[in-house]
Amino acid sequence: MADRLRDKPIKQKLLIVMAVVTATALLVAGVTIFFWDTLLFERRLQNDMTALAQITADDTTAAISFEDPQAAAEALMALKHRQHLLSACIYRADGSLLASFIREGSSARCIPADAKPQNSPLSGNLTLSRPVILNGKVIGTLTMLYERAEIFERMRLYGTIICIVLIGSSGFSFLISSRLRNLIAQPIEELARASSAVSSTRDYSVRAKKVSADELGMLVDTFNQMLSDIQSRDTELRSTLAELQGLNESLARSNADLERFAFVASHDLQEPLRMMSVFSQLLAREYRAKLDNQAGDYIAHIVGGARRMRELLSDLLEYTYLSSNPNFPAGSIDLNVMLEQVKENLAAAISASQAVVTSDPLPKIAAYEAHFVPLFQNLISNAIKYRSEARPHVHIRLRETVDDFQFEFTDNGIGIPPEYQKRIFLPFQRLHGKEIPGTGIGLAICLRIIERYGGKIWVESQTGRGSAFIFTLPKDAAVEGQSEDGRAGQP
Ligand code: ADP
Repeated sequence: MADRLRDKPIKQKLLIVMAVVTATALLVAGVTIFFWDTLLFERRLQNDMTALAQITADDTTAAISFEDPQAAAEALMALKHRQHLLSACIYRADGSLLASFIREGSSARCIPADAKPQNSPLSGNLTLSRPVILNGKVIGTLTMLYERAEIFERMRLYGTIICIVLIGSSGFSFLISSRLRNLIAQPIEELARASSAVSSTRDYSVRAKKVSADELGMLVDTFNQMLSDIQSRDTELRSTLAELQGLNESLARSNADLERFAFVASHDLQEPLRMMSVFSQLLAREYRAKLDNQAGDYIAHIVGGARRMRELLSDLLEYTYLSSNPNFPAGSIDLNVMLEQVKENLAAAISASQAVVTSDPLPKIAAYEAHFVPLFQNLISNAIKYRSEARPHVHIRLRETVDDFQFEFTDNGIGIPPEYQKRIFLPFQRLHGKEIPGTGIGLAICLRIIERYGGKIWVESQTGRGSAFIFTLPKDAAVEGQSEDGRAGQP
């Protein structure tokens, strides 16, 4: 019952609860009155009949003592007005019948003089037996049989009245409660209406109407207060968001301008730099005889600086090229074949260090070779460059989940202290000086490539224990066969 009520509207619940409570109270009261009245009536009837039997017995004393059946019968006939009396009989002292009254049309008989009276309440007919006494001596017995129909009729009548009152008052209470339930249901309905309006429209200016000043009224006030708090916070949030969007756009614009500038500058600076380098080399060669050793040293510094600057500019160019020139075609790459090419590119470094580069079987992917060659090349060349005393060993491990590939480049090199492991992915961040050549841009390029495909890159390492550079590649961005139209990772 409670379960079935649970999902009903509050108005219906209130109505049902009130009707059930009223009907139960009335029923309990009605049933109590009914049984109490019946018991009282039974007791009164028994007392009544006992008194009647006693009076009749006293009336028949003379008839018994004078052995006058006629007078005895007349005394009994006076009882015929008691509608529910079935029989009344007078016995002599020896137990023989002197006179009797049997109601016409009934099948009742005389109750024997020695029969035990059966007067348990509400069961069968009422039997009575009174001795007829003269001068302290029992001279006969009067027995009576009284039908309880009177009680049962009264019970029926009372039962019917109680049912009618129950139905009538339930209907009446239903009418009253259907008017009163609004006192409780309306404020709750107001709250429900306001909260569903807020959740469907996200309009926090909606307010619930207060219809009473009781606890429900307080609840409506608290709810409205909460809404106005949320509304002011929402307004603040929106304006902060708009500000942030503006900032973001201007940041993106200045970033793009900066990258364009870096691209143009690194591209255009290459030529004057090449001139400086060529002419300082010419100076060193053609004027060797005229210059002293110190001048030779200076020129060597100029040549070295120009070479280093050229490397820096070409790395910067490559870094900016990734965002400024997106229109080269995506193709299908067999990473096993590509790895061989990368090893060939790094042949000098591999043979100089006697490095061993091994790999799990790699997948075919739909991506841009111009991205994946530098990615693999940077990671492998770093593993060789930052080697320890041991012979470098680089292994590429592949793991695959439902959503992505995970590549892990492990080496047995010098390792990276934990505090630098995030920084090394920023442009120009290096942990070493000139003793190990490099520009500090290789890992920034790797990060930029991986982010383009929606993946992540990070390093796990401990100083002196080698490093593992790990990156993920979402399959939906680079699964083989997907990308002739350029869907795989917009460059
Ligand atoms: P570069 O190698 O030109 O300095 P990178 O961006 O490739 O620039 O690397 C940044 C820094 O991260 C390096 O200077 C080096 O200190 C560190 N690093 C990169 N790869 C490794 C590696 N496999 N083992 C140890 N250190 C590394």
